[in-house]
Amino acid sequence: MRLYTVLDIVALILALIHFGIPLTYYFYLKNKYLNKPWNIKINPNYKPKVTIIVPTYNEAKLIWKKLDNLAEQTYPKNLTEIIVIDSASTDRTPEIVKKWIEQHPNINIKLIQEPERKGKAHALNHALQHATGEIVVITDVDCWWPKNALQEAVKWLSDPTIGAVSCIKKPATPHTTEETYRKYYNTLRIAESKAYSTPIFHGELAAYKKTLLQKIGGFPTNIGADDSHTAAKIALTEHRAIIPENLEVKELIPKKNYPLWRIRRAQHLIQHFTKIANTRSKTNSSYRKVLALEIFLHLINPWLLVIASLLLLASSLVFHSLLAISILILGVILLMLREYRVWVIKQIILILAALRNTQAKEITWKKQAK
Ligand code: GDP
Ligand code: MN
Repeated sequence: MRLYTVLDIVALILALIHFGIPLTYYFYLKNKYLNKPWNIKINPNYKPKVTIIVPTYNEAKLIWKKLDNLAEQTYPKNLTEIIVIDSASTDRTPEIVKKWIEQHPNINIKLIQEPERKGKAHALNHALQHATGEIVVITDVDCWWPKNALQEAVKWLSDPTIGAVSCIKKPATPHTTEETYRKYYNTLRIAESKAYSTPIFHGELAAYKKTLLQKIGGFPTNIGADDSHTAAKIALTEHRAIIPENLEVKELIPKKNYPLWRIRRAQHLIQHFTKIANTRSKTNSSYRKVLALEIFLHLINPWLLVIASLLLLASSLVFHSLLAISILILGVILLMLREYRVWVIKQIILILAALRNTQAKEITWKKQAK
């Protein structure tokens, strides 16, 4: 039995970094930026033509309701075009879309069918070639917009310095883990946006100026996070990519396999940040810091927790260190605290996602029932 070992000291330092950096980042951003006014000029006369692209793969269950939701938008109908791009669904999604189109002759909507599924980003690029709007908005099927979503997104884009706008997300049905996680996550996205831009966007509503999409060569087809990566590339070309606080979308959470869903999404984010980490570019200094922090939080920080835990475990088992045993027990007891538990779950998800990325990139993923 020992009071403590050198392994414990190393573990404590790693744990301090693991918890200290994100906490400092969160409170720093929150205090410095969250309540700051937006430094943006809104032009109320800006009424561009908008193309909404809805990518579908086996969405038979939800697509009708989704199109109904889009048809309810307050943005002028004569300035709105909807393109549904389907990639060889096997569940009659295209037939349902055709029927909806027939029943809504007043809506400017078309369906494009790809003969083969090559992934969401590939489909988005295909649809982009047909988009006639000045603004292009992507929206996944499994989420509901408020009626003024389009109008709000366009409002922010009326400032010439803004290149892209996304939404904050809330689960459509109660889900404690998801809600706790989103609370902190949404705060970070808004604060990062006020600082300059956020490197994490949401496919539930992602609006871009089309000229900028064309300039960056469309959506990335070799990684999963088309939304976040596109936003980051736009922010790196000196246009802001922001998430305002008043644009809230309700997202459906899978009924089964919630962890697997989170892991797949984390895989995509890791692919995105790995690619950004390898991109050299001059950009706004606040944004450079945000990128560096988010890259650290997604790619490195989870491993510090793993290493610290393994060191403590070794120290307990080999040297029977009292300090190591006490910290491990405390670490487990603290799991009763929701915030801490949600944080630890997120770290495990990132670790599993990094491991899974070595096997498959999940560019075409299995549809999860929602
Ligand atoms: P999640 O939100 O991360 O769970 O991803 P989803 O499974 O909801 O997919 C996001 C959106 O992309 C949905 O509207 C899907 O129907 C659509 N989607 C996924 N894969 C493909 C694809 O290969 N082609 C097309 N056209 N759409 C896809
Ligand atoms: Mn979705």
